[in-house]
Amino acid sequence: MSKIEEYLSEFDDYELAYFAKYKLDTYLKNSQENINQILFKRGLTKSRIKNLIENNPKSKLDDNKERCPRCYSDKIRKDKVEYTNESNGGSLGIAITAYNATNGKVPYKNEVICNVCGFWLKDPNNEKPKMFITRFLSRFLTKKED
Ligand SMILES: [Zn+2]
Repeated sequence: MSKIEEYLSEFDDYELAYFAKYKLDTYLKNSQENINQILFKRGLTKSRIKNLIENNPKSKLDDNKERCPRCYSDKIRKDKVEYTNESNGGSLGIAITAYNATNGKVPYKNEVICNVCGFWLKDPNNEKPKMFITRFLSRFLTKKED
């Protein structure tokens, strides 16, 4: 099983539908073909995806789980990020700041992203519009403390 196959096997049909609508485009062409095959195997045609999203029963759920306001999945990812409010520099600036900081002097905040549809629930550093690659770079340079 490929990584993406494994990842998507944990999604129910509704989650997969949102994933197809909002996240598919963010993958490289090769991966997109892979994902399309998985969608095909699970019977998620374009019209079925549309239908699943329109009739998502989770929107009526009233439990205490933290859910994504867009797709209502509880597959939410929380990352601790250095909280910087600098208006210039963007993600790269943050990465460099973090790289230079030695021991936890930078305040941390939770960055909360939906794992299914990519919706940002919390974006302490206003990173959302930035390119994925700079986020990756900032992760790479950032030592996470858990
Ligand atoms: Zn979502």
